[in-house]
Amino acid sequence: MYLPQEIIRKKRDNIELTADEINFFIQGIAKDTVSEGQIAAFAMAIYFNDMTMDERVALTCAMRDSGMVIDWSHMNFDGPIVDKHSTGGVGDVTSLMLGPMVAACGGYVPMISGRGLGHTGGTLDKLESIPGYNITPSNDVFGQVTKDAGVAIIGQTGDLAPADKRVYATRDVTATVDNISLITASILSKKLAAGLGSLVMDVKVGSGAFMPTYEASEELAKSIVAVANGAGTKTTALLTDMNQVLASTAGNALEVREAVQFLTGEYRNPRLFEVTMALCAEMLVNSGLATDIEQAREKLQAVLDNGKAAECFGKMVAGLGGPADFMTNYDNYLEKAELVKPVYAETTGYAFAMDTRALGMAVVGMGGGRRVATDTIDYAVGLSDMIRLGDEANADKPLAVIHARNEAQWEEAAKAVRAAITISDQKPEPTPEVYRRVRPEDV
Ligand code: URA
Repeated sequence: MYLPQEIIRKKRDNIELTADEINFFIQGIAKDTVSEGQIAAFAMAIYFNDMTMDERVALTCAMRDSGMVIDWSHMNFDGPIVDKHSTGGVGDVTSLMLGPMVAACGGYVPMISGRGLGHTGGTLDKLESIPGYNITPSNDVFGQVTKDAGVAIIGQTGDLAPADKRVYATRDVTATVDNISLITASILSKKLAAGLGSLVMDVKVGSGAFMPTYEASEELAKSIVAVANGAGTKTTALLTDMNQVLASTAGNALEVREAVQFLTGEYRNPRLFEVTMALCAEMLVNSGLATDIEQAREKLQAVLDNGKAAECFGKMVAGLGGPADFMTNYDNYLEKAELVKPVYAETTGYAFAMDTRALGMAVVGMGGGRRVATDTIDYAVGLSDMIRLGDEANADKPLAVIHARNEAQWEEAAKAVRAAITISDQKPEPTPEVYRRVRPEDV
């Protein structure tokens, strides 16, 4: 028998906690026998004294097990259960192609995603721009669509990792969000509760990333890889670039349109292609669907070329309540903004740098994202035809095309876009799409 205050005292005094002590504390959170004040003190003690990898594994497992852990065995999937998680970005529509691509290669992807908050877009918000798409199906429908389409992307249910919900709410108001041990346990407890065989983590680096520096992104990637593998789920991570908008679009319906065009082959932004392929390849290798990255990429290219990946996306949309003819008639279903007009740079020159966070906030400012969790979303607004770093901005090449509801909204967004993109007579050095891979043996 333990006392919460004694566990807090131990962590406060920088003494390593045992798995039993961490379990006791987290169970108390789930059962409401640990108070808000105790959670705050516990989080602050971790913030200052941090946790060893063993403590992080124990914290992650305890939070994962604080609610339902999905058991897929009754579904008799004939392939591995795999997933990806990203720390979030702007124009990061990767999940919408990645899920169907991996499914078309024989994986099962029951992806539980989040909404956007702050400058980053949310996969669920994007999918909700598809009329009829239900992000909160019953567990039975979730399982069946995963089985039939190979992929189902839905929202978090209250039953998964409920302890994280309480801990996160307290961290959010006590300045304890930005701690790598707590972030690791928070992300992984929710993901691992989905009963995955393997996972790939996309940790973003750069001006639109959640982590402030390359070093911090790398530290988070290493922590996640060490802890997830320690918790029994084969996991690798990629550090990918978020120094510019990843896709050619940023905004919910616009990104869905780009995802469909990517899958059908109508248009593929090269940077988005590279990041998506790299993450998918990692998933195929981690789950044993490919022997190495090269073979994985060949398989992935084949399911893009033969239409199988597009078919999986179409099946998922229809299975979750969306239109059966979405892949062919998507343009009729996705809402459009009234005013679609390009914004040009004030001087001619190369796009040298982007404040990607500010571009995300420009979309939020138009109503395409949330400032607070209760805000409603305007799916139609956003940016398309985004300039890429190194492109020359001139009278023929705009910085972006703004999709706005009215002139005033367009003007405000145009000001934000111009301010966010540095124009120079110097061409910037190209940045890689993927900086590095982090495997269990690297941590
Ligand atoms: N995302 C999460 O889910 N949890 C964190 O702590 C930070 C980002």
